[in-house]
Amino acid sequence: MDQPKEKTPYSLNSKKVADATKSWLHKRGVTVEEIAELVMFLQQKYYPNLTMEECVHNVEQVLTKREVQNAVLTGIQLDILAEQGALIPELQDMISHDEGLYGVDEILAFSIVNVYGSIGFTNYGYVDKLKPGVLERLNDKSLGPINTFLDDIVGAIAASASSRIAHRKQAERELDNGGEFDEEDLN
Ligand code: MG
Repeated sequence: MDQPKEKTPYSLNSKKVADATKSWLHKRGVTVEEIAELVMFLQQKYYPNLTMEECVHNVEQVLTKREVQNAVLTGIQLDILAEQGALIPELQDMISHDEGLYGVDEILAFSIVNVYGSIGFTNYGYVDKLKPGVLERLNDKSLGPINTFLDDIVGAIAASASSRIAHRKQAERELDNGGEFDEEDLN
């Protein structure tokens, strides 16, 4: 008879979580470039010289944050379970119909923008209203996949990257004026 398998003790593998975040965003059809385009949309008017490269870099930096990874994976998981019809019936109905009064998708997105302060919040509200670029596609209910959580997550990542840019640009400006800043303050 087989010996019962010894349960391996849990230990967090940060690299695996980071890799899973990237790969699941990709599997759900969202590219870093599309998120970077939202960042450009949000920040271009404040920084006319902003490049796509900078936007991509800032999105990638946001995606290295544990809070962000956790929210991305949790949200995508709930969207997938909703597609499979695997949720508690009442929750299933609300998530598959993207019920306006549900709101937990937005709350989860807040856990992303929370990391980046109030500029993140205002930018998130702005893209959530306008739904430019990739957000329009993610919101199109006629296309099949359920993206009730993913649209808010993508908007929140773009808003956070925008906030990150705003804080860094300010720091650069202060540095140019002879001031100093602590790299630690700029996550
Ligand atoms: Mg939503």
